[in-house]
Amino acid sequence: FAIKMDDLLLQEELGKGQYGTVKKVSHQVTNVVMAMKEIRLELDETKLQQILMELDILHKSTSEDIVEFYGAFFIESCVYYCMEYMDCGSLDKLYGDGVPEDVLAKIAISMVKGLKFLKDELSIIHRDVKPTNVLVNRKGQVKLCDFGVSGQLNKSLAKTNIGCQSYMAVRSKERKSEEGMPERIKAADTYTVSSDVWSLGLSLVEVAGGKYPYTYDNMFAQLRAIVEEEPPTLPDHYSDEARDFISACLHKEPSKRPSYAELLQHPFIQKYIDVDVDMASWATEAVNSQQHRQ
Ligand code: ADP
Repeated sequence: FAIKMDDLLLQEELGKGQYGTVKKVSHQVTNVVMAMKEIRLELDETKLQQILMELDILHKSTSEDIVEFYGAFFIESCVYYCMEYMDCGSLDKLYGDGVPEDVLAKIAISMVKGLKFLKDELSIIHRDVKPTNVLVNRKGQVKLCDFGVSGQLNKSLAKTNIGCQSYMAVRSKERKSEEGMPERIKAADTYTVSSDVWSLGLSLVEVAGGKYPYTYDNMFAQLRAIVEEEPPTLPDHYSDEARDFISACLHKEPSKRPSYAELLQHPFIQKYIDVDVDMASWATEAVNSQQHRQ
């Protein structure tokens, strides 16, 4: 069935992204709590219909490692995207000073499986893998969001972005995950699956160490460091398997980075795949200490 605005009871704002606001809503027909993302786009009816059609494949193909899609609709030129509500929010607000190795492993497993699903089942590369786009709930589930399933929506968002460029450059603390990637800095249009693997590695270093690994106060120094310096590594207290997993993802030469199938066979993943890690407690404690910090 289709979701309509009339059936939704709007609750609090969950966050603001680059393109729009995310609100918590309650679908009164089914009593399901959802997250609704509002994306403002100046588009004609044909393009909007195309976006809805393209998003529709998400109904047919689901994975436990991907934030569930419930439906989308548009009003005037806003697209409203309704998805599973993840009650602990995004990973960037949960990692604090860093996470223990077993938690990192479970996060890595979900991310690799999610990315593999997107590629194998939907033939898409994520293009924006970063801790903000990894959501967590109190059950301890970790899922990817913000993947570009709709080609038309991607195109429209890219156009919207042109007008925002200078604004983005001024916000020096804002970073697009693509910027932290050697091949993106060197040449345009070289985005492949292995670029997502780099972003995965960089995101995991950030989650493990509790901060974005490249910290320079200007963008030029930062970009130069990404291209010229050795890639970041995990802090010393992580095991050799964990450190090797990260160096494999962060190989400067894209073709040398492992595939998702290879990553799932890596000793770091194999060491933890059958271990029961209490992710629910970790997530709950992480939310509580985040609320303390505020
Ligand atoms: P960005 O453009 O930075 O990726 P989004 O617009 O996707 O950000 O989301 C903004 C914020 O809203 C996120 O950082 C997250 O905290 C929150 N959010 C997004 N989707 C959900 C969801 N499904 N459940 C709970 N919170 C969400």
